[in-house]
Amino acid sequence: MRRVQLRLGRVLFAVTLFGGAACYDSRWGEAKRAQQRAAVATKPADITPSSSSSAPDAQKRTLRIRMRPNNRYLAQTIDAPKQIADLVEDANRVLGPTFDAEVEVDRVQPWSNEADDPDAALAALNSDDPGADVDVVVGMIGALPRQTDSLHELGVSTLLGKHLVVRAASRFEERDAIEQRFSELSEDDRARIASQRKRHRVLAVFLHEIGHTFGAIHEVDIESLMHPSYDPKMTGFDGRSIALMRVAIGNADPVAVAREQLEILRTAVQAGWVEVERNQEIARLEAMLPRAAATNTAAGLAPPSSPAPPPELRGDDAARFQRASDLFQGGAVAAAYAAAKPLFGAYPDVAAVQSLRCQLATVRWLDAAALKAECTPSVRLLVGADGGANAAR
Ligand SMILES: [Zn+2]
Repeated sequence: MRRVQLRLGRVLFAVTLFGGAACYDSRWGEAKRAQQRAAVATKPADITPSSSSSAPDAQKRTLRIRMRPNNRYLAQTIDAPKQIADLVEDANRVLGPTFDAEVEVDRVQPWSNEADDPDAALAALNSDDPGADVDVVVGMIGALPRQTDSLHELGVSTLLGKHLVVRAASRFEERDAIEQRFSELSEDDRARIASQRKRHRVLAVFLHEIGHTFGAIHEVDIESLMHPSYDPKMTGFDGRSIALMRVAIGNADPVAVAREQLEILRTAVQAGWVEVERNQEIARLEAMLPRAAATNTAAGLAPPSSPAPPPELRGDDAARFQRASDLFQGGAVAAAYAAAKPLFGAYPDVAAVQSLRCQLATVRWLDAAALKAECTPSVRLLVGADGGANAAR
């Protein structure tokens, strides 16, 4: 950019010295060429798949995705069906070869929720559409009125869950900025620049959130889709993220997923994760491993699919516990939480109830303080009062 300004300065100097119509033309031509160069230099990178390393006869997994645009998204998005179809097609081009998977849209179903805050939208989506019949439910909400590259203002997701929320792509400021910066280029050129930027950003945000739903955490490399803020240089998923996501894609057993991802996070020698998040994720996944299952596996027995209700539970509470455990095992985190919630206060000293509470908290993507509050009773029951703080973080 600095170089472009310098050259323009020289041209202007020449205009002053020699004057004349020819110089006007050459200045105009130079400005246009400078803008053309800037357009090339700032063009977003291509987001490409990493070729699969699995056996050629490996079975292709189908990733079923349900798209839930709300009214604001639909109002702000010109030709929403095409935008959604393009997004899915772009995503499929990356996810397909990288994970031996086929992305299949279950359906595009309007969502009657007008939450504007992504976290509120995510919570509402969890309860409005538990998504038991699909792999991922995508809430699509209105654009932010101001510009941001913070990925979590553009989208949010449940870590190792099945819900994510993304914003509409429209950015009025961006259109104005392109009008000004590329004023010498044709209308078509400007439209192309705007559309390339939008398409890259929308795909990057979507894939970033998909990454989280399959257990990928933030990375420091700005070319990685898992970098915490959006960058036009993002080119794809990194090997670390691919390894984590491969474990979770198509695997319905959360305990097995937690165990395998833990192994990857603990043993990977390559640096590159945001280190504090790597440590938090290790703690989260450790908390997801039920003590009973860990013990049984160590003794060579298969891990139980759902723990049996503890004998302390009275009346209907045993059935409630069973229902919540089954929902949790099936990946319906929000529904499991809703079912189990009344038990948490009623049985403060029953380890199985408080352990379920903590396990649910680890996959509800709570902040550190809330997670600690949810897990402290369980840790107190298991290891005594002093272990609480460390084990929950
Ligand atoms: Zn993120």
